[in-house]
Amino acid sequence: MKLYSTNNKENQVGLKEAVLKSLAVDKGLYMPMVIPSLSNGFLKNLNQYSLPEIAFEVCSNLFDDEIAPSDLMQIVTKAINFPAPVVPITNNISTLELFHGPSLAFKDFGARFMAQLMSYFTRNENNELTILVATSGDTGGAVAAGFYDTPGINVIILYPSGKVSEIQEKQLTTLGKNISACEIDGNFDDCQRIVKTAFLDEDLNKKYNLSSANSINIARLIPQSFYYFEAFKQRQSNNPLSFCIPSGNFGNLTAGLLAKKMGLPVQKFIAATNINNVIPEYLNTGVYTPVVSKQTIANAMDVGSPSNFTRMQQLYPNVEEMKNHIVGYWYNDEDIKRKMKNVFDETSYIMDPHGAIGYLASEDYLQSNKDHEVIFFETAHPCKFKDDVENAIESSISIPTAIKEILNKQKLSTRLDSSFDSFKAHLLG
Ligand SMILES: *Cc1c(COP(=O)(O)O)cnc(C)c1O
Repeated sequence: MKLYSTNNKENQVGLKEAVLKSLAVDKGLYMPMVIPSLSNGFLKNLNQYSLPEIAFEVCSNLFDDEIAPSDLMQIVTKAINFPAPVVPITNNISTLELFHGPSLAFKDFGARFMAQLMSYFTRNENNELTILVATSGDTGGAVAAGFYDTPGINVIILYPSGKVSEIQEKQLTTLGKNISACEIDGNFDDCQRIVKTAFLDEDLNKKYNLSSANSINIARLIPQSFYYFEAFKQRQSNNPLSFCIPSGNFGNLTAGLLAKKMGLPVQKFIAATNINNVIPEYLNTGVYTPVVSKQTIANAMDVGSPSNFTRMQQLYPNVEEMKNHIVGYWYNDEDIKRKMKNVFDETSYIMDPHGAIGYLASEDYLQSNKDHEVIFFETAHPCKFKDDVENAIESSISIPTAIKEILNKQKLSTRLDSSFDSFKAHLLG
């Protein structure tokens, strides 16, 4: 498999380098040179494939023969070991629940797959890989669970003390083994600054083989295409099917564009955002204006400069082409709360704030496409946003058993001040 940098198509690498480096040297994002069409036999008979088998089919076509089939089968079975069910809510709106992995958010797909690929590509190196991650909450949990017990890889997570939720903190600090956590007396920016400085520090690089688990890594994007096929397989009708994706950095939506290029018959992609509406605005006006992000109750989507926009442009180079395939909608916090309540009252389905944005956009889209079916993504379990959800629906929600167990475990972390020197001393000590 060859991948090119979005900053210079001449700049090409293999899959191993793209996965281990995340970003091209020219700071571009990696994109596949060729996005293969999958066979009709596969596309017409999705019913006969399990989710890991779908994953295997997509990867073996994309990767050429870079990974032997038996190794690839192992990678996808280990990474994709939880289901992605489609749950009908009305007769033409369903939700694809992507929160059945260990951290209860769709980021588990990307993090687990990236962990397996990194472990595979470094399997013959005796120098262990150390992954540094700064997190404001969600990404860290998915990465911690994804890399847990992965041979040859250690993970160090830095998180801001007192600024992540109790569930999130327990997800970061109770695993042990190859996962360790540093609780920084500072904010997320301090954590990020320490990680960036660490990558440039000579002494640390002498002692450790450092790497990152960046969200723009192609190994996080590819597995997010698997569940579009899985959802299509579970659709309610034979009407034209569109997907509605609550979006922040637009990784999820871009993965859908890959699935469509591979042959999945998707009518439209509905890009749904909170008030951070840079891409819906671009689709409406043709002008792309990144801004500083604004805070909302769908906070995993508070992104003012979506990193995957440059990948979307590789597939649809101008706004007219993009509009043929993607339609944008956006909503404020009041819309979100009202819809969580309204859907709960009418159907008893409990949505999280991100999913509620998906529901709102699905409804608005169906207004002008009455004979269509829409599947929107539930990107996180509602208990991750317990207070906001309970306030909105005026009812209490239950916490899954796996999370209750984590809450009883002891937190293991090293508390450090926000200076780089303290972190360095900790790692060298
Ligand atoms: C990360 C995240 C999103 C945004 O996904 P993108 O791929 O960045 O667009 C949406 N919802 C939840 C719960 C998330 O964690």
